[in-house]
Amino acid sequence: MPIFLKPSLSNHTRPRSRFSLQALRFASGLSATIGARACTAVPCGSLSLPYTSSATPQPLPPANHRRRAAACWASLMAAHLLLALGVAAQSATTTTTDTAMLGNTTIKFVSTTAGPQAGVQFLHVHQNEATAVTAAHAMLARAKKGQFVTWQCQQDRYVQFSLNGQTFKFDPNRIYTDAGATATLKSNGPFTPQALAALRTVAQRFASQYANGKRLVVALHNNTDAGGLTINSYAKNGDYAAEAEAVNISKKWDEDDFFYTTNRHLFQYFAQKGFNIVLQNNATVTDDGSLSVYAAKNGIHYLNVEAQHGHLKQQQKMLQAVQQLIAEQYR
Ligand SMILES: [Zn+2]
Repeated sequence: MPIFLKPSLSNHTRPRSRFSLQALRFASGLSATIGARACTAVPCGSLSLPYTSSATPQPLPPANHRRRAAACWASLMAAHLLLALGVAAQSATTTTTDTAMLGNTTIKFVSTTAGPQAGVQFLHVHQNEATAVTAAHAMLARAKKGQFVTWQCQQDRYVQFSLNGQTFKFDPNRIYTDAGATATLKSNGPFTPQALAALRTVAQRFASQYANGKRLVVALHNNTDAGGLTINSYAKNGDYAAEAEAVNISKKWDEDDFFYTTNRHLFQYFAQKGFNIVLQNNATVTDDGSLSVYAAKNGIHYLNVEAQHGHLKQQQKMLQAVQQLIAEQYR
């Protein structure tokens, strides 16, 4: 059975005051180090010595020494203040990590949080899709709100784990139903009921923490140019036409850059803005265990922001439109 460890840092609810106590404590520690270095350059090592607890009164140090001492304290306080400001700026986002064990494999769910955005979760499950991660972090920095969680494991789309002497492999976007998890294990190697149970436990943990109870889940993916999945795959006569209830194809956008949703209202919203978008046919969609299928079964609005590898600007523009949607309709 998988073993879950506690989050390494539970600061989801920590108030992020600009001059938080933690920031000042951290800055104090750092500035003490830097202050000591600065004082080595300007010899003021006797600063703490003039008024000792000795019974014999000590003479005052010479005037030039006192001036040096004052300058040293001033520089130390300035360093202290600058570091406090610097730490406050860094704390614009916080990073937390949840860890799950699957057989012998450690899976990290790394969350970056820029600020409260109730009921909305951005997520990413294919670690090799790096453009999406860069786009998400840029979005958080710009919006100053939202939370983005990403799977970190073996730098690949797929994850492998060993259990009872056998090695299993799965796609992290095919594990949110029993049927999907069974299929992804079988199509990537051996299958045992024990491996399925362990995998489903991790999937349920991820879904319950990052999807259940949300009003909107925004997944980020990247695809490859020339072939594979495009907006045209869902058009009439496309490979996945049967999975789609409606498709809006835009001449302004590359066929690899498109939204995919489970919600008709979201489909209309982005279609009217001239984006490529697919509306999943929730009644007939194949149960492949993907998050879009899970979201449709559980009444969660789901939006996939899919862009070609390297189409950073395009994916950022799409995320900007998502933030506008959230500001208008998910406040
Ligand atoms: Zn993906």
